[in-house]
Amino acid sequence: MKYTSCIHLEHGITFFSNSVQICCISSHPGGGNILQIENYHGEPINWEDIFSKRSIMRENIKNGIIPDKCQGCYYLKEGDWNSENYFDEVLIGHFTHCNCNCIYCYTEKDKKFFNQNKTYNVYPIIKDMIDKGILSKNSTITFGGGEPTILKEFEELVYMLLDYDVYNIRIHSDGIKYSSAIEKGLKLGKITLITSIDSGSKEVYQKIKQVQCYDQVWKNLANYAKTKNGLIRTKFVLIPGVNDSLAEVKNWLKQTYEAGITDVAFDIEDNWFKEHRNNIPQYVYVICDFVFECYRQYNIKTCELYERASNLKIDRENRLKIH
Ligand code: SF4
Ligand code: SF4
Repeated sequence: MKYTSCIHLEHGITFFSNSVQICCISSHPGGGNILQIENYHGEPINWEDIFSKRSIMRENIKNGIIPDKCQGCYYLKEGDWNSENYFDEVLIGHFTHCNCNCIYCYTEKDKKFFNQNKTYNVYPIIKDMIDKGILSKNSTITFGGGEPTILKEFEELVYMLLDYDVYNIRIHSDGIKYSSAIEKGLKLGKITLITSIDSGSKEVYQKIKQVQCYDQVWKNLANYAKTKNGLIRTKFVLIPGVNDSLAEVKNWLKQTYEAGITDVAFDIEDNWFKEHRNNIPQYVYVICDFVFECYRQYNIKTCELYERASNLKIDRENRLKIH
């Protein structure tokens, strides 16, 4: 049946450190964060309960009643959705510890707390989903939170997903710690690795990341790239006032290609974007337009736009249509 919905509303699940939600998208007017389980700390999940709530919500959506928290979200689109009970959009983001200190990270508010924040083991939950046949092999499974490679269950979890034959595993890693499971997944062509570099020079990297790992990260990325399979994206989060120069952006694209990588991702820092969305300075448009239009000049094949960059591009195109 055709109606307006979204991939997460239909078959999504997101594990956070103290809750289970439908998705992690939040920059749109409705604000996202649709709860499935509050105060969650790794307990066994009653899937029937989740599916029954999902089914009530789906009936409302079929009747045009979109949840308030989804209002204005660019993920909403008309589609031919199915009502079966399974998950195929999974975000694993239940951990907050990290071996990096990005100035724009939510963990910067209290690094000690987030690095010591007790986390649960998500392995048994994902295994339960596999055993019960409710995790689709066509799933996109995304790791994002703190740094996944330093998570205790990370290697075992990735190997289990690879054995189960999920072929679209997206891992956001800072690239500081090398992972054999990521290397294997890249060799099998089942992993997309995304590493935020946010800079084209050691100085700016250190200013943003507050660790001295620039060379180490490029070395690890170049080694991952030798697998010649899977997809690796270096990412640049534009932070106006910090890394907002064309030279920095150009050097990032150049170094990416030199590391044997041909795909990138681009975004704009979340807090800055929310504050300035209706008042973007011209020079920020110039940098964004350069990335949107010129990345191919650096032998880069694809540029994935993350949430804020997509919003900016759509807003800009709409404004240009009006004027
Ligand atoms: S419409 Fe947006 S906020 Fe709502 S579930 Fe989908 S992605 Fe999340
Ligand atoms: S790598 Fe990610 S989790 Fe770690 S500090 Fe940076 S933004 Fe935060």
